[in-house]
Amino acid sequence: MSYNVNSKGYYGDFGGAYIPEMLLHNIDELKENYIKIMSDDSFQQEFNQLLKDYVGRPSPLYFSKNLSEKYSAKIYLKREDLNHTGAHKINNTIGQIILAKRLKKSRIIAETGAGQHGVATATVCALMGLKCIVYMGATDVKRQAPNVARMKMLGADIIPVTSGSSTLKDATNEAMRDWINNPIDTHYIVGSVVGPHPFPDMVARFQSVISKEIKEQLLLVEGRNYPDYLIACVGGGSNAAGTFYDYLDYERVKIICVEASGKGVNSGKSAATTKLGKTGIIHGSKTLLMQTDDGQITEPYSISAGLDYPGIGPMHANLFSSGRGEFISIDDDEAMSAGLQLSQLEGIIPAIETSHALAVFNHKKFNSTDIIVLNLSGRGDKDLENYINYFNIQ
Ligand SMILES: *Cc1c(COP(=O)(O)O)cnc(C)c1O
Repeated sequence: MSYNVNSKGYYGDFGGAYIPEMLLHNIDELKENYIKIMSDDSFQQEFNQLLKDYVGRPSPLYFSKNLSEKYSAKIYLKREDLNHTGAHKINNTIGQIILAKRLKKSRIIAETGAGQHGVATATVCALMGLKCIVYMGATDVKRQAPNVARMKMLGADIIPVTSGSSTLKDATNEAMRDWINNPIDTHYIVGSVVGPHPFPDMVARFQSVISKEIKEQLLLVEGRNYPDYLIACVGGGSNAAGTFYDYLDYERVKIICVEASGKGVNSGKSAATTKLGKTGIIHGSKTLLMQTDDGQITEPYSISAGLDYPGIGPMHANLFSSGRGEFISIDDDEAMSAGLQLSQLEGIIPAIETSHALAVFNHKKFNSTDIIVLNLSGRGDKDLENYINYFNIQ
């Protein structure tokens, strides 16, 4: 048994491609080509070169002496926050833009909620000279002005979406519609391990560079290439998938996924998918999602825009239902304190998404000999205003 995807695009009961007939052509083209293209030597050469020279990889594996002392365990931070554009998302967009070029696509579409994936997509489109259209809920366009400005400066067109609640899921529907109408020249860059097969697998493979580096880096400092625990926050699940990838079937390594419970699991303002969700279809994939009794997707909430998603990817739904992964829900307050604590203990201001993962140390006791790798998915610059308002910093 494997926790990775099977040949039909499923992780256990989850995954697949639940798409309208009119998207079949696009998905089939991708499905037939992605592994072939990605395993090509010249693809790997171009991908790795850009990860090195443009993104700044390998990202350091930093032994966090002060956190380790405080929580009596050996805690390492995988520094994805040091990547160009400030998070792990660029690993995926670099991979997909090279793939798009090799599929002879000239036009890129993407959807974005908080704007982080939109920025990562606009960045690689600028780099490669491809046209970039980003669908974004009109509410999010207003809430995320700095990222909208960044995308525009990078040359992208932003299309505000006013249907539904004017947020991420509505932007996703519009992006799908665009792709149906432009099947020949357009590639849709999905931003997490979500969407119809093969997107979750493809994005996980691009992000797997994180676990490949962890193996090499741990071997050098600890004399073994695996930790006792891996910890990552889960919005859609891409930074977590990349962190876990090479260890998925190595059950000696325990996996902890951290989701956002917002103002509390039962507050009605939450994004704790494994606590509140049921099996359903979202974004073309069968997975766990938060929904009403009659199957309407529930509007999620988290103080962290990147975790504010009503589902999780199918890999993670399977990690949960099989028990391979332990899921811990962290609320806004716990996350914000953990973010402040890391800033003052280590001089690293984390993204609020990552702060959720950091809060695990207040929830769970580890042994002093445990080696723990926590993926520091992003930096907190984008969240400064949020931190300032929350802590009333003057
Ligand atoms: C987008 C984002 C996340 C959540 O997305 P995943 O696909 O679950 O990784 C987490 N951390 C940061 C810094 C992000 O920008």
